Amino acid sequence: MMLGLLKKMLSTEPRKNEGVVICGGEAVRYDIVRSNRRTMSIVIRRDDCSVSVRVPLSVSNETITDFVDSRKEWIERHRSQIAESNRNRIVRRYEDGATHLFLGRPYTLRLNIDKAEGVVIDGDTLHVSVKSPDRCQKVLYEWYARMAEVELMKVARPLIHMFAEEKGRQPSAIKFVKAKSYWGQCSSTGVIKLNIELVRAPIPCIEYIVMHELCHLVHHNHSSRFHALVECYVPDWKARKKLLEATVSCRC
Ligand SMILES: [Zn+2]
Repeated sequence: MMLGLLKKMLSTEPRKNEGVVICGGEAVRYDIVRSNRRTMSIVIRRDDCSVSVRVPLSVSNETITDFVDSRKEWIERHRSQIAESNRNRIVRRYEDGATHLFLGRPYTLRLNIDKAEGVVIDGDTLHVSVKSPDRCQKVLYEWYARMAEVELMKVARPLIHMFAEEKGRQPSAIKFVKAKSYWGQCSSTGVIKLNIELVRAPIPCIEYIVMHELCHLVHHNHSSRFHALVECYVPDWKARKKLLEATVSCRC
C-alpha cells in the first residue's frame, strides 16, 4: 500500500520545467514555458489534452504553482471536455469497413477494386471504387470536394438570399477550399471561403459557419457588435459550434 503510494508519487515527480497539479484525483503534469510576456496563461492541447503554462521570465515557481492551483477546476473541466470531444470524433481510416461522415451522418466505406474510379452512396454505405487501395483517400477526397460545392451551396444559398434582403450585403464570391485551420473565412473584399471538410458536418453546423461568415460582411472583426449580429440570426450558435467540434475536425 505504502509502496504503491510512494511509486505513484515518484512517477509524478516533476522535472525542472514541469509542475504537477492534482485535478479530479489525477496527477496532471504541466510544462512551464517561460518567455518575454507579461501575464500567465494555461493552454490545453486539443490532440492529447496535455497542459502547458506560459509565464513571464521572472516569475517564481511558487507563484506558478499557486496560479495553476487556483485554476485546477478550470483545467479539469476543459480536459474532460476535450477528451469527450476526441472520443466522439470519428478517426478517419481509408479502408474497407471504416466510417466516414457526410452531412453529419455516418456511412460505412466499402472498397471495390475497379478500373472505373468513383464514389456512390447507397443507404448508409459509401461504395468507393479504386484502381488500387492506396487511391482510396484521394478518390474519396475528390468526391467530398465535389459534394461540398453542391451541398454547402444548398445550405448557403437561402441564407445568402435572406441576408442580402435584410442587410443589403452579399458575398462577392464563394470558394471551397482545403484548409487545416479554419472552417470559414470572409475577406475584406467579401469573398467567403468554406472548408470542403464542412460537408462532413451536420447541417445546423454548416448553417452556423455560413451565418458567421455572412455577418463578417457587416463587421470585419470579432467585436461585440459582430457577436450580437450572429446571435440575432443563430441564437444557439454556441451549441452548434460545440456540436461541430465534437463531430469533425478540419485538421485531419
Ligand atoms: Zn470570424
